[in-house]
Amino acid sequence: MVCPICGFDEYEILKSNGKNNRELLVKCDDCGHIYRDIAPEEAYEIEVRVIISEFETSWKTTVKLYSDEYLETGTLLYIDDKDVEVTSIENMEENRVYECPVVDIKTIWVKSLDTLARIGLSIDNHGTVLSHKIEVERDFIFAIGEVGEVKGLKFRIYAFKTLERNMRKGYAYAKVIKRVYGRLLPRNDKSKVKYDLTEYVVKTTIKEKDYN
Ligand SMILES: [Zn+2]
Repeated sequence: MVCPICGFDEYEILKSNGKNNRELLVKCDDCGHIYRDIAPEEAYEIEVRVIISEFETSWKTTVKLYSDEYLETGTLLYIDDKDVEVTSIENMEENRVYECPVVDIKTIWVKSLDTLARIGLSIDNHGTVLSHKIEVERDFIFAIGEVGEVKGLKFRIYAFKTLERNMRKGYAYAKVIKRVYGRLLPRNDKSKVKYDLTEYVVKTTIKEKDYN
């Protein structure tokens, strides 16, 4: 409520009536103008349905948000003791929207941020290297010799670079890996894919392999 004469938003209530006493007669604290208005509705907390995802698992929970707020994708929230980022919002009409008044939200999808490690994934294809940045759970384990897939291409891991050393055998947690090296497998390769990393790719570049 703002004064129609001077725009000031503080006032003294002279009289209230109507439904829930929300029809007000007030006097502007600044210029003294007396005007009628409807009191703004008090914001209240709404329990909103949330689906949290953490790498390969997801679960349902809820979060309390204020009724007079908007929510947009990319917003950071703190839910179930985790820092999370809103990745998708579904409104009451069951449409996926970029932003939405809290009162119209049906479900929000969030991804957990505090469990992610960002690492490089280089896939060698005879002279070119597909280089991806991926974000995976910190405790995700990569092992030399495993077959993975990214954007429909299968690869076999042959090395890692960790924070301390280069590895040609064994396994390591994502949190200590800086880069995973793989070789592209032919389309007709029959190896079983252990994990598909496509949805964890945050950036991809293609380079000529540097032989120096
Ligand atoms: Zn005024």
